[in-house]
Amino acid sequence: MTEKGRKDFCIVCRKEREYYLRKKQIVKNIRDKEYTFAITVAVCSECGEEMSIPGLIDINVREIDKQYRAAEGIVSLEDIERLMKIYKIGKAPLSLALGFGEITIPRYLEGQVPSKEYSDIIRSALSSPAFMKQKLNENRDKLTDAAYRKAYIAAESIESLFSVSDKMLRVIAYIFDKLEEVTPLMLQKLLYFIQGVYSGLFGKTVFDEDCRAWLHGPVYSEVYELFRDFKYNPIDDARFALLEGMEDTLTDDEKYVTDLVINTFGMYGGKVLEKITHNEAPWIEARKGYGTGIPSNELLPKDRIMKYYIMINKKYDIATEAGLRTYISDMLDKAS
Ligand SMILES: [Zn+2]
Repeated sequence: MTEKGRKDFCIVCRKEREYYLRKKQIVKNIRDKEYTFAITVAVCSECGEEMSIPGLIDINVREIDKQYRAAEGIVSLEDIERLMKIYKIGKAPLSLALGFGEITIPRYLEGQVPSKEYSDIIRSALSSPAFMKQKLNENRDKLTDAAYRKAYIAAESIESLFSVSDKMLRVIAYIFDKLEEVTPLMLQKLLYFIQGVYSGLFGKTVFDEDCRAWLHGPVYSEVYELFRDFKYNPIDDARFALLEGMEDTLTDDEKYVTDLVINTFGMYGGKVLEKITHNEAPWIEARKGYGTGIPSNELLPKDRIMKYYIMINKKYDIATEAGLRTYISDMLDKAS
């Protein structure tokens, strides 16, 4: 339907005609206020009159709803669905937990537009697990014990996300967005390589966290705590829905390096990445004095990682995917 060159019946021409789609501004009055919305119309290629195309009205109804909500600062349906997902709560219990009537959220999910007041409550719950916990406690007697507990635990687990720096959180969210399946081990190594490559290229760090030399390579312990429940499985974490639609705070350079690492190191599994780190000087130095298989928790200083990657950059040109691939292949040759 949205494809160019499609045909439909033109009531002016009285014939099947090709049409094209274009944007059109319309003015609408809602609750005594004037709004300008951009909608999509189909125009007959022959006579230039508007044509009525199946499905177009539905699209425009959704578009107008979206633009109206944006103009009024009112939460979208997706925001409400995200709220249910991150706090693991159904629509009726969510309604009660927020202090609304039982059918209020179900109605919003059917398309009814929330008032500004209720919309603000929903937005606060979406951006602050502490606010959600407060609401859950205020309305605890209206909820079943099971629903209360499940949502409360989810809120606490979201709070734990903020134990890592905002920058680290953004990098992790970016990786999850780009890579389908990431295990905790793989994530740890990618974060390390992102920090390494970035500091090697720009002479400064992406995030402040320090990693430690564990048996399985460099590990950011705060991140380890965050995802320990996933063990060796790909991370499937509803908590990160919290970050969707929030302002993106990664710089272009940070995104460039993250993409670079994802497109090179990101092609390998956690075990292979672990092998690479085991052959790098910072990890070997931090592990000095520890025999094979002996656990260690030594700091891997950020400036040591930076120094190493500055040196690697001189040899391999790690600003390019080709350079990084050569580095990876040399390191894997060493490991075998
Ligand atoms: Zn026509």
